[in-house]
Amino acid sequence: MSFVLLCKTSHDLSVLPSPVSLCPTHSSLVLATTIVSSIYDGPWQRAVTCGDAVWLTRGSFSRNCTYTVRNYLTGALLYYFHICQKGSDNLCQDDIYEGTSKAAEGFGANEVFKLMVKDQMNVECHIQDGDSTSENVVLKHFPLCRVLRCGNHVAKNHAIKLDKLRKLKEMTTNDGVRVECYCKGKKHAKHCGCLTEKFIRKAKASFQMCLTNAGTDPNAFSEKLMNLALHHFQDEHQWDGGQCDFHPLVVCSCGSCTDKYNLKCHGKPYKSDQVLKCPFHTLAYKLECQEKAGLADVLIHPEIGPKIGTLHVFTTTFLPT
Ligand SMILES: [Zn+2]
Ligand SMILES: [Zn+2]
Ligand SMILES: [Zn+2]
Ligand SMILES: [Zn+2]
Ligand SMILES: [Zn+2]
Ligand SMILES: [Zn+2]
Repeated sequence: MSFVLLCKTSHDLSVLPSPVSLCPTHSSLVLATTIVSSIYDGPWQRAVTCGDAVWLTRGSFSRNCTYTVRNYLTGALLYYFHICQKGSDNLCQDDIYEGTSKAAEGFGANEVFKLMVKDQMNVECHIQDGDSTSENVVLKHFPLCRVLRCGNHVAKNHAIKLDKLRKLKEMTTNDGVRVECYCKGKKHAKHCGCLTEKFIRKAKASFQMCLTNAGTDPNAFSEKLMNLALHHFQDEHQWDGGQCDFHPLVVCSCGSCTDKYNLKCHGKPYKSDQVLKCPFHTLAYKLECQEKAGLADVLIHPEIGPKIGTLHVFTTTFLPT
């Protein structure tokens, strides 16, 4: 696959730098810094990349971190940078990383992007999670780069936010109105209409569906997401000016129809199996959707669409330490 999606003006492949270059100064700081891809199959001047850091262990005490940059469309590994933290012994004579585990991502990103500038690569568009330190690093080296957010990371964050809201039972809105949960002061009953774990799983999948179905139109994403909050999860699938476009409005009632868009029976109206009824949890979900709808422009690129998954498909192999 080539980078035709962004190649409206430049198809010039003659700008490709030498296929492999090694950072000359890296050896005292890291185990390895390498350009892995020998041929970058796209215009080097209009690169679309994605990058992320991985740690050897979870939590914030990992002594090993690797920052990788990949070709967004093919997933090919372009650059990686290993960071090893110094232990308490003096066995290793090298001058190794002395920063914290937390700061390793920005450190690794800086080394990689420095090398990319040196290789005369121009990153037009870079996809990453919401990490502001690495975003600043990208912009430091490529001031004109458009930094976009990975849809999977944002979907995951959406679910985490909803899980926090699930546990709350009241809020005061910006206009000073106090909104309380149906189940304030008592346990949730079955089908009480509050946020449930099952609802959140549905909401996360629906969020990803909105991204995919929006194509290259950020406004379509925002609208689809808000329609979930305002209509679909209120069990309203057809409303003044619109209808849900991801499920039929009438579903099979005989139990034996195989094509859900071409029923042989009379059918019955579609019903959401997860419906929000609680005033507090309905509002909480709506506000969270509003916040995510506001990210449309960093989630969807008008030429390459939503950016889902590439960061997550590949795992990074660590060098033995
Ligand atoms: Zn280096
Ligand atoms: Zn992600
Ligand atoms: Zn509630
Ligand atoms: Zn409840
Ligand atoms: Zn619906
Ligand atoms: Zn049927």
